[in-house]
Amino acid sequence: MDRETIFCKADEEAVRKAGEILRNGGLVAFPTETVYGLGANALDEKAAARIYAAKGRPSDNPLIVHITRREALGRIVTEVPEAAERLMDAFWPGPMTLIFQKSPEVPYGTTGGLDTVAVRMPSHPVARAVIEAGGGYIAAPSANTSGRPSPTKASHVAEDLMGKVDMILDGGEVEIGLESTIVDVSVAEPVILRPGYISLEMLQGVVGKVSVDQALLRDDAGIRPKAPGMKYKHYAPKADLKIVEGSEEAVAARINELIRQGREKGKRIGVIAAKESAYRYQGGIVKTVGSREEDLSIAQHLFGILREFDTLGVSEIYSEAFDTPRMGQAIMNRLMKAAGHQVIKA
Ligand code: AMP
Ligand code: MG
Repeated sequence: MDRETIFCKADEEAVRKAGEILRNGGLVAFPTETVYGLGANALDEKAAARIYAAKGRPSDNPLIVHITRREALGRIVTEVPEAAERLMDAFWPGPMTLIFQKSPEVPYGTTGGLDTVAVRMPSHPVARAVIEAGGGYIAAPSANTSGRPSPTKASHVAEDLMGKVDMILDGGEVEIGLESTIVDVSVAEPVILRPGYISLEMLQGVVGKVSVDQALLRDDAGIRPKAPGMKYKHYAPKADLKIVEGSEEAVAARINELIRQGREKGKRIGVIAAKESAYRYQGGIVKTVGSREEDLSIAQHLFGILREFDTLGVSEIYSEAFDTPRMGQAIMNRLMKAAGHQVIKA
């Protein structure tokens, strides 16, 4: 512990204090609709550097700048393309981050040395109040130690960052549970760099042509993702996590066999299952992540369950695949990373 961390409910007085800390170059973690963010003044290079130190984040992994008003864009970007205007009209405030050409006001310490800047306007009332109180331009990556699952509750933030930041605001559990969709609008045709709640279809419905970064579609280490952060190992629990794919019956049979083999060797085995199929597993520690019928519930609980398994002393975890129509792309992107792309075909 190198500094004292204030941990408190996100009430009016706490938000006022958070604003003061941010204006003085300090670090405040706060809830957003996606995951908890670790905020610092985005226009102050030294403040941004403290985020990297607290998270243990690689310095080439740029930060997203959070704003609350469209007018604020003028100071930090050089140009707002037509497609960006339409996407902002449709999805801001909300879980969508856009990449623009940056203005000289944004330090390279915030953009990881890039000439572009990522910007998001969150909808969460606490996030908005903190950004305003802190001066209007708050860099806020996920409030976890780099590599661990992103925090979806204040207690997750405390696990990773107690003693490393000035303040943690508790605003309860987040709604979405996965980080924002990142769309590069600094190029002629918008490209998704990270899938999220705002899906490809939703973006196409607004601007027509949208493509997906090739690195997201293929499991090929040779293709460099356009979002620098996407190349890093992420979210991995301590136990060895593997995804088991196939029909519901075949997956259950295979996982039950793996549980039996593990138990014979005296191991504790974890299972991540949907509500609809959890009853099929025997002998393992089974966590129900959410319902396939309402896949937002899977997104909401995935990171929390990965963290929970770290406290349960399991040595192997087997997860069902969740290729659901709505959020399947975003969920599987995070789950595949957490599993180091290990997939068993049942
Ligand atoms: P986090 O805030 O922890 O969800 O991480 C931010 C993500 O945004 C990382 O994957 C970054 O690589 C990505 N990102 C931020 N700025 C840029 C940028 N200018 N160009 C491309 N990706 C970016
Ligand atoms: Mg992150």
